[in-house]
Amino acid sequence: MLKRRLKLKPKVKIILLLFLLGIVIVIDTMCLKQLTPHFIVSNYTENYTLNYGNKNISYIPKVCYGIKSDCKEVEISTSGEIDYNKLGEYNVEYTYKYENKTYTLNQLIEVKDTEAPTIELNDEEIKVCPNGKIQKLDIKITDNYDNNIQDKYETEIIDNKLHIRVTDSNNNTAEKIYDAIIKDDEAPNIKINGSKNKTVIIGTKYTEEGATVTDNCSTPEIITSGSVDTNTLGTYSIKYSATDESNNSSTEERKVYVKNREAGSRVIYLTFDDGPGAYTKQLLDVLKKYNVKVTFFVTGKGDDSIIKREYDEGHTVALHTNTHNYNYIYASQNNYFEDLYAIRNRVKRITGIESNIIRFPGGTSNTVSKISMKELAKEVTNRGFYYFDWNVSSGDAGGTTTSDGVYNNVVNNLKPGASVVLQHDIKKFSVDAVERIIQYGLENGYTFKALDETSPVVHHGANK
Ligand code: ZN
Repeated sequence: MLKRRLKLKPKVKIILLLFLLGIVIVIDTMCLKQLTPHFIVSNYTENYTLNYGNKNISYIPKVCYGIKSDCKEVEISTSGEIDYNKLGEYNVEYTYKYENKTYTLNQLIEVKDTEAPTIELNDEEIKVCPNGKIQKLDIKITDNYDNNIQDKYETEIIDNKLHIRVTDSNNNTAEKIYDAIIKDDEAPNIKINGSKNKTVIIGTKYTEEGATVTDNCSTPEIITSGSVDTNTLGTYSIKYSATDESNNSSTEERKVYVKNREAGSRVIYLTFDDGPGAYTKQLLDVLKKYNVKVTFFVTGKGDDSIIKREYDEGHTVALHTNTHNYNYIYASQNNYFEDLYAIRNRVKRITGIESNIIRFPGGTSNTVSKISMKELAKEVTNRGFYYFDWNVSSGDAGGTTTSDGVYNNVVNNLKPGASVVLQHDIKKFSVDAVERIIQYGLENGYTFKALDETSPVVHHGANK
């Protein structure tokens, strides 16, 4: 059966034979070609795309001469330049020679930006408001070609995922997808304009400055409640509240105090000129009893030990004059300063302190001086001294000669703020009045202080 089947008709046999012969010829020719030396070009395409900025020479073809199994490399010369940093098309011609024949190959190279931007995200979690607003995005976009691409990205929320897309100027697109948390659990932030605690003097106008609100997701409205009656003493409350779209709310409060006008701080600066004298010790004992500190404007007279005690007991030892001789000290600025430095040296010798608190004999307003008190006041200030006059006079240098008189002159003329009282510790009746003055002051809400460089300025002003 099998043998019978293989028996072919003669015509068919001939066709088959011719066919086989054809195959043999083709194979033979091919082999012949393989065996004849010729140029073999590899790594060549007519059109080649180079990435922008990529100085890669792998596009250059390779040519050799020979047969496949034994092919010698042929040198290729290249003409036509490529600027890797400039987009465009470049024609390149490759020439290679063998014996007398020159062959050329042409290539079209396109320098193209094919690189997409990179998207980097530094946030660990991405919070997205229910209204789609991204609460915070710490993102960095860079590109091989575009310099300013950082802000060119677009975002989209699709199924709880944040898509970040960016396309460079050469149409390369990058996209990254991140998980997003869609929620708003942050309450609005209310900031009170102006002071959180305000004081208004009764009967004056209160101006409500309001508050401002910011929110991570929306722009809530601020609701203000409460009012201030500036005609009624008391503490008032202004409340501010805001609620965002996710129902997170916050409140803030301003306190407004409607008060009476304050009298200011009532301070008595007792000052004693012309000592130390016979009654200074007695005075120091009284001051010690009440722990009251005062200021002594001292002269060149009296015992050193008293000045030492004044200083040791916390009083201010200030400078009045060494000689207390008006005719001398006010004859010239030279005289004045010679006298002033003399008393300053005395005080420094006793206390170790270079005092710069002074009082002019007769005050700045004295009319005895032959030199200009205005210029003298200016000059002492230039030299770093602080001069004090007084605004409450005990009268003990003039018409008042009794303790009662001194007491009345002082307590009846105290100021609502600072009272700088002038007395002389070389007069017994004046020193005798001090205890009662202190008692009055303490009972009526005054405090007693010694003068220093920061004390309120009390100046008479010069007459000339
Ligand atoms: Zn004096």
